[in-house]
Order: sequence, then structure tokens, then C-alpha cells
Amino acid sequence: MDHSSGSDVDESLETRLRRTIREVPDFPLPGISFKDITPVLANSLLFRSVTDEFARQFAGSGVSHVAAIESRGFLFGAPVAQLLEVGLVPVRKVGKLPHLTERVDYALEYGTAGIEVHADAWGPGDSVLIVDDVLATGGTADAACKLVERMGARVAGLAFLLSLRYLTGEDLLRGRRVETLVRYQPG
Ligand code: AMP
Repeated sequence: MDHSSGSDVDESLETRLRRTIREVPDFPLPGISFKDITPVLANSLLFRSVTDEFARQFAGSGVSHVAAIESRGFLFGAPVAQLLEVGLVPVRKVGKLPHLTERVDYALEYGTAGIEVHADAWGPGDSVLIVDDVLATGGTADAACKLVERMGARVAGLAFLLSLRYLTGEDLLRGRRVETLVRYQPG
């Protein structure tokens, strides 16, 4: 007897995510397939499964801080920090943080962008897990790694809901521990 038909209890997390993430063609520009994760947030069980999985992957690996990248990284990073029982550090766009900051600038396809954290966010001896929703070119995540390392801390790893493997992100982060729940291939 097949008990699995009509039930999603046996489906893998990857399958449930793939079914739930909405692909929006030509947003915000023609040719971009935007991966909309808001349906994942709207499904409390699935949302919880994602953050539980990140916490499981990095439990026992000595993480001292979760760095959550503005802005969708905040949504996933905050629960992971609570589950791992470590502090949360918002990695913000330039000009948002009120106190002394450290900043890294990085290249975009057109122009540059910058990210900042407070200068006292972490330091030598700390081990930082970087969390974001999407790994695309990897520019933002690579800049976050530089921010961690420039301040004397180490990168414990990076956790993404999804990666776009046809972009260069995974190459830019080669040699680092990268966990991704769904990988999109070209085509
Ligand atoms: P990148 O620095 O190129 O890896 O881009 C990372 C950021 O851009 C992530 O924080 C994502 O939120 C966003 N992003 C880039 N490409 C996409 C896409 N195709 N769909 C959704 N978000 C994207």
C-alpha cells in the first residue's frame, strides 16, 4: 500500500523548497529570473525546517556569531542565531549603522556597493556563520567574508537557501564551507 501519495511528509526539504520558491521572469530587469522566497516565509513549517537545517548543519562547529546580510538574510539569520544560541550581527548597506563601522566595497556588474558592520561586532577568536537567501555572483558574500577576516575573526561557513550555479558565486567562495539547500542549474 502506498501511504505517500497525497502527503508531503516524505518529500525532501529540497523538493518542498523547489516547489515553493516562486520564479519571476524579467524582474527587476529583463533577462533576470528572480527567485521569490516570500512563499517560503509564508509557510511556517517550511520556514522552520530551513532554519532548523542551517542550525543542524553548523551545530557543534564553534560558531560564535551569525552574520545576517541585509535584507533577506536577516529573516533567516535571526532564527538561526537563536537556535545556535549565539549573537546576531546585521551586515548592512553603507550608512545605516549608527556607531563606528568597518566597511568593505565590492564590484557590481555596473558600479560598486558597500557593506558595513559595527567595529565591535566580532574580533580575534570569533567564528562567524554568514547567512543570506540567495548566492548569485557571490560578491556580497565574499565582501562579508573579507569584513569578518579583516577584523581578525574567522569564517565558520556560509549558509544560503538557494544558489544560482550558473553565476560565479560558488567559485568566488571556493575553499570555504558553503551550505545551500537548493541549487538552480542553467536553462
Ligand atoms: P550576489 O552578491 O550577486 O551573490 O547577490 C546576492 C544578493 O542579491 C542576495 O542577497 C539576493 O538577495 C540578491 N539576488 C541576486 N540575484 C537574485 C535572483 N536571481 N533572485 C533573487 N535574489 C537575487
